[in-house]
Amino acid sequence: MTGAFSAEARLIHAGTDRSGGAPVTPPLVPASIYVSQGPPHQERSYGRQGNPGWEALEEALGVLEDAGAVVFASGQAASMALMLTLAESRERIVLPVDGYYGARVLADKLRPHGAVPVHVDQQDLTAVERELKAAPSVLWAETPTNPLLRVADLAGLAAAAAAAQAPMVVDNTTVTGLLQRPLDWGATASLYSLTKSISGHSDVIAGAVVSRDAYLLARLRAWRASGGGIAGPFEAWLALRGLKTLPLRIARQSESALAIARHLAAHPQVRAVHYPGLEPSTLEAAQRQMPAGFGALLSFELDSGPAADRVVAGSRLILPATSFGGVESTWERRARWAGETAPDGLIRLSVGVEPVADLITDIGQALAVLEVP
Ligand code: PLP
Repeated sequence: MTGAFSAEARLIHAGTDRSGGAPVTPPLVPASIYVSQGPPHQERSYGRQGNPGWEALEEALGVLEDAGAVVFASGQAASMALMLTLAESRERIVLPVDGYYGARVLADKLRPHGAVPVHVDQQDLTAVERELKAAPSVLWAETPTNPLLRVADLAGLAAAAAAAQAPMVVDNTTVTGLLQRPLDWGATASLYSLTKSISGHSDVIAGAVVSRDAYLLARLRAWRASGGGIAGPFEAWLALRGLKTLPLRIARQSESALAIARHLAAHPQVRAVHYPGLEPSTLEAAQRQMPAGFGALLSFELDSGPAADRVVAGSRLILPATSFGGVESTWERRARWAGETAPDGLIRLSVGVEPVADLITDIGQALAVLEVP
């Protein structure tokens, strides 16, 4: 489909066969093998090499950033293939100090197979430049970060990466390509956990890499076929189905999250609130990079871990659960996970699509438990 229509319109129709009699929803194809003889067709011989459902989903994901996509079994499977591909012939992976801790754990595990992980505050562009110039590197960025929602300047990071001839990856999971397009700022690839806002209904684990570099996409497909980190056909089908309503969900979630962040910032029991729309030091970059909204995720800090546990346990609407981007609001004390570097009293809240007044009522009554000694 041409670029004459908006991304919102195109992703609804991506992957749909428009010929007469074709099903309007892409068919779910669970086959592990295809009828084939003679030289094997690359994508239609064995199920580890291709599935029509991946292709439909990849087409829709490509729409988000006017690019190509490769889907994987999970965000981590996508990260692993991307790290292994880009780390080849490079000495370091420069990661954020405060992003998704799973990326740091993974990079550490891959140390014997490629580049050495180096952690840097990606708001400090001088430090990023220094680390990138020290040796051939991959820049692995994340903005806004999970769970502190810190914003890094994509233009500045891209310039530093270009100067050092380092490919730049941006984990774009927290806000998605509908709100922020890292490839337009110079990234080589965007990394997505489709488990979050893209699928949006807390019923899928999947991941993807989106890029305009055809050679990189081909190498990632080769990794997927050999490594076997493939998305299940049903997961791909569910992710595509969820993706169609992403524009509606994320617009409402962004609006509600901003209102809730402002509400929390004025609450006497709350020490700090982290949301890109509220942080003066990075507001300009946030508005430049995410002109249509800042996403569903925010975090806030209470005095202690036990206080945060009591508040999480006190909700009647918001579900105590991990992950984010679903239609239902969820929250958790992040430091309960080993390896997470967030402060003890930090609660990460994923704002769902419930009416914001209900969420504010629930948060209010949950925070009220702190008033009872
Ligand atoms: N990137 C970010 C920012 C995440 O939050 C997560 C998971 O929480 C991942 C990547 C990994 O994705 P998955 O759980 O689909 O493997």
